[in-house]
Amino acid sequence: MNTGTGKPARILLLPGDGIGVEVIREARKVLEAAARLFGLSLEFHEGLIGGAAYEATGKPLPDETLEEALASDAVLMGAVGGPKWDGLPPALRPEAGLLAIRKGMGVFANLRPVKVFPALVHASSLRPEVVAGVDVLILRELTGGLYFGEPKGRFPAGAAAGGERAVDTLAYTRREIERIVRLGFELARSRRRQLASVDKANILATSQLWREVVNEVAREFPDVEVRHFYVDNAAMQLIRNPRQFDVIVTENMFGDILSDEAAELSGSLGMLPSASLGEPGRPGLYEPVHGSAPDIAGQGKANPLAAILTAALLLRYSLNRPDHGAATGGEAVSGPATAAAAVERAVERVLAEGARTADLARAGEPVISTAEMGDRVVAALEAEG
Ligand code: NAD
Repeated sequence: MNTGTGKPARILLLPGDGIGVEVIREARKVLEAAARLFGLSLEFHEGLIGGAAYEATGKPLPDETLEEALASDAVLMGAVGGPKWDGLPPALRPEAGLLAIRKGMGVFANLRPVKVFPALVHASSLRPEVVAGVDVLILRELTGGLYFGEPKGRFPAGAAAGGERAVDTLAYTRREIERIVRLGFELARSRRRQLASVDKANILATSQLWREVVNEVAREFPDVEVRHFYVDNAAMQLIRNPRQFDVIVTENMFGDILSDEAAELSGSLGMLPSASLGEPGRPGLYEPVHGSAPDIAGQGKANPLAAILTAALLLRYSLNRPDHGAATGGEAVSGPATAAAAVERAVERVLAEGARTADLARAGEPVISTAEMGDRVVAALEAEG
């Protein structure tokens, strides 16, 4: 399928709202060029999510969108939301569609790579010598921990007991920890073979189990170097010496906080891709980190590089998985991985040549549009291929 033989890979595009529509158009252009140049067979479908879906169907995630998503090899989403829908009840708001599709697809691992491109070292609020060369992948557990544990809620209590009580529960099972940790080792193996596991094992029982499981799984990956960090130290090390990290694996809330901290290393929301993966063989969900940016929507100002880099992740992690359904015949395929790396190099190249959307341009630098940036990446890809 992926290499051009057999069934094409099915990609569901969910542009969503605001600049989601504009950046997904460019990401598709790049995927089509990559397919042409690297002999991949891709089939695109388009669906509704967010405010656009609410307008058309009354629901932020129509049933047929989820059905399509589950029947696809991968889902590429833009962004959802906008002031028009801010007054809706929570269950109908565009963001509810986002949470529902993540849940419906059963994705439990969120990958957020943060790479500082040489041409953009000045965009970070940290000094260029600190961020130059940073290439870190934060892997966050998405479905367990403090955000979902029971009991959870607010409980009335008598004044003698200190008044009303609020409770959140931090819970993890061995199985939940093992599957994310194993993915962390596999990802490290495909990169620089270093895994940093982040916990708070000096205090939390869940972290003690987490650390135990990491050490057990580590025996299966003797070629990967493991280091354990307490979360407070990890937060400090991420801004003190971010180059020391390759893959960081951690639980839900720690990952939520650390991934936003790491995002600031790159300094630009318009450059950050993400992927959410489930069990092997299930489709992955790919989305740029940024939102729908209503302030610039419809003006051709959005930076499409986050969406384009997200499309590269889709090629690498969904279309290249050896377990990826019958179509691959169980064998690893190299075409999508080669194409993913070529897309990333094309992005690096256009930046090095000075291509800048408004969010990236420094004073006096010429600015290009969303579509021009997409065209430049396609041209760079063609020049290479
Ligand atoms: P945002 O990410 O949409 O925008 C924050 C700022 O960054 C804005 O000034 C915007 O213009 C700029 N920006 C973001 N992406 C950019 C890009 N690709 N190119 C150039 N500039 C870019 O966050 P927000 O303003 O807090 O939220 C706007 C809407 O998006 C809200 O409705 C929010 O709920 C939604 N949202 C959706 C997602 C998602 O779909 N995953 C994520 C975050 C926010």
